[in-house]
Amino acid sequence: MINISKPYLPPLDQYNRYLAGIWERKWLTNNGPLVQELEDKLKKYLGVKHLLYVNNGTIALQIAIKALGTGGKIITTPFSYVATTNTILWEQCKPVFADINTNDFNIDVKKIEALITADTIAILATHVYGNPCDVDALKKIADKHGIKIIYDGAHAFGATYNGKQLLSYGDIATCSFHATKVFHTVEGGAIITNNDELAQKMTLYRQFGHVGDEHFSIGVNGKNSEIHAAMGLCLLPMMPRFIEKRKQLAALYSQLLANLPFQFPLPLPNTSYNYSYYPVVLDAEERLNAVIYSLKENGVNARRYFYPSLNNLPQFKGESCPVSESISKRVVALPLYYELEEAKVINICNVIKSCYL
Ligand SMILES: *Cc1c(COP(=O)(O)O)cnc(C)c1O
Repeated sequence: MINISKPYLPPLDQYNRYLAGIWERKWLTNNGPLVQELEDKLKKYLGVKHLLYVNNGTIALQIAIKALGTGGKIITTPFSYVATTNTILWEQCKPVFADINTNDFNIDVKKIEALITADTIAILATHVYGNPCDVDALKKIADKHGIKIIYDGAHAFGATYNGKQLLSYGDIATCSFHATKVFHTVEGGAIITNNDELAQKMTLYRQFGHVGDEHFSIGVNGKNSEIHAAMGLCLLPMMPRFIEKRKQLAALYSQLLANLPFQFPLPLPNTSYNYSYYPVVLDAEERLNAVIYSLKENGVNARRYFYPSLNNLPQFKGESCPVSESISKRVVALPLYYELEEAKVINICNVIKSCYL
């Protein structure tokens, strides 16, 4: 089966050289030298002041929310992975869904102000598929109302907006380095901020709330290991090549699918995209089901991503969000990864085209 994503693994001897050092030192976790090296390199790559390497993108969101305070309302997007909303509830806050816009499927900045009340503490928005939210408009709204912004940047690693890394925007941004993402460390994630006070708080949360015998707060275990950091150190230098190859494959898809009645996300001007996904929005849900079925018959797992719209999940009980509901019923992410062969892309497009004959 061809899946929508396939993790790239570095040459084994390269990874083994890092393992040899770990075996030598017997320092496996708790802020070891490879974790520190990865954090330094990621900070440089992103051009940010603080970056905490953590064990996954979900704990990154949990720690970020906790740092802004508990119990309040958080305005968020219904068009994201379920972890985005889960973490809001997990941290005892209340999600309030603002619908998305029809261009890039990110939170609709025009829908936010009407939802802000005295107990709103933050906006948690996702850079969907790695395309930037309208970060300038969101900052204006947040500043005006004295609330904070967290970006779920799980898809955003390597994308830039107005010449800056997208993950550098917001009071806090989080990322996932899960095996299925553009850049991975098997499992892993990061919390990014330029705010010293938040960074200090979140550093404590990541390590149970204490330093040695001094206990400062409650905390959780968000640390990641030397074994995981080693994977990141092998793969980080590959980023330009990862993005370039994905760009070529995406261009091939676009060329082959040009005559079909598909909608594609349209990023804001001044975006340099990381090609983390190749999503297409079809004309109707029945057609989407037919396309997914035909692809499966031909050994291809396309993925409904994101589906369903999160406001429709019973545990979240959100208000209706018609745009998100409509897009999520018709969108599918096609396979896109570094080692995907062009012949496979041509095959996939032929199967899709056959559904429109
Ligand atoms: C992958 C993903 C997450 C969760 O990241 P994990 O590292 O798997 O915990 C959160 N939000 C979005 C949008 C994601 O795609």
